[in-house]
Amino acid sequence: MLKLHEFIENINKTQYKGKVLEHEQMAPRTTMMTGGTAALLLSPADEESIFIAVNLLKDSGIPYFILGGGSNVIFPDEELEAAVISTENLNSILIEEKNEGHTLVKCGCGTKTNDLVDFCTENGISGLETFAGLPGTVGGAAYMNARCYGKEMSDVIYTARFLEFNRTVKIEEFTHNFIERHLKMYHNTKMGEDWAYKNSPFMHSQRFITSLTFKAGPVDSDKKDEVGLECGKFVKDREDKGHFKAPSAGSVFKNDRNFGEPSGVLIDRAGLKGMELGGAQVAPWHGNIIINRGKASSSDIKNLVRTVQEKVRENTGFTLEPEIIFAEQNLQ
Ligand SMILES: Cc1cc2nc3c(=O)[nH]c(=O)nc-3n(C[C@H](O)[C@H](O)[C@H](O)COP(=O)(O)OP(=O)(O)OC[C@H]3O[C@@H](n4cnc5c(N)ncnc54)[C@H](O)[C@@H]3O)c2cc1C
Repeated sequence: MLKLHEFIENINKTQYKGKVLEHEQMAPRTTMMTGGTAALLLSPADEESIFIAVNLLKDSGIPYFILGGGSNVIFPDEELEAAVISTENLNSILIEEKNEGHTLVKCGCGTKTNDLVDFCTENGISGLETFAGLPGTVGGAAYMNARCYGKEMSDVIYTARFLEFNRTVKIEEFTHNFIERHLKMYHNTKMGEDWAYKNSPFMHSQRFITSLTFKAGPVDSDKKDEVGLECGKFVKDREDKGHFKAPSAGSVFKNDRNFGEPSGVLIDRAGLKGMELGGAQVAPWHGNIIINRGKASSSDIKNLVRTVQEKVRENTGFTLEPEIIFAEQNLQ
């Protein structure tokens, strides 16, 4: 049994700013639109509130899951016995530095990647066009090291600011100074080796990214149309590939060079395109996308993921590794 009421009583005595909701529906917070409730949903409004919330959760023995835009996450159908910390309130964009050579654009972790791309377009800043149309937030994209049309997040992130939670701090210790001291800055140029395909320095750690700075081209109002046209091409390509035809979480499986072919091709060759299980279906137009046909449950999605893995293994001997995140398997 989670000590929810004790936690809520305690957090109400602190400086925490943001929502604290019980038994909140998760399906509308994901692009797959499946899943049940989370025991707790917190939406901290600033870094200090993240710090307070996570430390109190750890103190109460309540596991937590960080939620960005929910475009890569599946929640279980039954209640998630944990707190979901949504970054929805942490969305700000500003130019941190500009000169003739480049611009540094700073975003709160909950900023939608599309809002960052639009901001760059309005300012004629080029460099992030390939990310146009990518669902979700910059925090989630950094965590996943999202890759779009040959460019990865690691190519454009300049610094990441994050809180690292490897020990619990008692409530009496919460002072603004203390939190500042716990914030760490990741300078990408120095730690480039921590990035890989679908891998980032934030995975397998207890790091909560609070903001990111992106390095892109200089501000140039004459370039607005050019940048906008380029972004439009990538969005159109996604539309043509059926990315937005039905609720999904994008590519289900990672690609692996050892397979010799993209995962979607292996799935297609196994004759699985269009395969249905409950309300879930392998998209008839793309082997590596599973869609919610309207009434899918998360169990339908998981069962279909497993079936596709089994059939591809029978056909090729390769085991496809899911890229999508199952919340209950990724609690901190
Ligand atoms: C139609 C469609 C198309 C897609 N196309 C692509 C594509 O081209 N390339 C690609 O790489 N992906 C693609 N995706 C997958 C997904 O959109 C990206 O990975 C996206 O960047 C995830 O961001 P999010 O905010 O939705 O993260 P979420 O799904 O909310 O979370 C993903 C992971 O990040 C963690 N996380 C989120 N925020 C933070 C934070 N602040 N600190 C620490 N951890 C955090 C979560 O705990 C979770 O483990 C697509 C998805 C869809 C639905």
